[in-house]
Amino acid sequence: MNDAIRDVMIALAAMTDDGCERRKTPWSRGYWSYATDGKMAIRTTRMDEFIERGENDGTADAVDSLTAAATGPTWYDVPAVPPEPGPCPKCHGVPSVKCEACDGAGHVAWEFRHRGRTYDSVEDCPVCDGAGTVECTECGGTGKGDDPAVEVGPALIRAEYLRLLARLPGCRLAPVDGRSVIVFRFAGGAGAVMPVWR
Ligand SMILES: [Zn+2]
Ligand SMILES: [Zn+2]
Repeated sequence: MNDAIRDVMIALAAMTDDGCERRKTPWSRGYWSYATDGKMAIRTTRMDEFIERGENDGTADAVDSLTAAATGPTWYDVPAVPPEPGPCPKCHGVPSVKCEACDGAGHVAWEFRHRGRTYDSVEDCPVCDGAGTVECTECGGTGKGDDPAVEVGPALIRAEYLRLLARLPGCRLAPVDGRSVIVFRFAGGAGAVMPVWR
């Protein structure tokens, strides 16, 4: 059970995408260990493998108050979501496609004239930078399709977060409305997640 919580904490912290290194891994303070990516936060009974980080005190304070935020009247189980996003409808999961500009060669031949002479020049293809392939424009190279948010009572929650929450033992959520932070609790801790605004 603790292994599941630990793995979710590590996965959540790794989702931090603002270059904030001090939050890229979970940390501990006092009785608790913490993890957040800036949009979801988890606090659980201290796991000593997560070191103390004084510079995260402000974030720990914020998580403490989030876990104590208002809850709605109903506690919902974590809804089932697909195990992962479907493939991209354009590239069908093969996000590198042949560069049309160079026909996959990665280079282009130029012929130019200067003072009556003709010169040949071969250069890296400017479209694919010499790679011969370009990323799918639909999915930006992830190969994945839409990962729609899922309704939990009055709130919409990103499927990515619901997949993590589903791994926390006995996790339940109590959304207040469609815009307020959503508190969740599980056997061993609590946390909060931002809804998707609609
Ligand atoms: Zn694609
Ligand atoms: Zn090219």
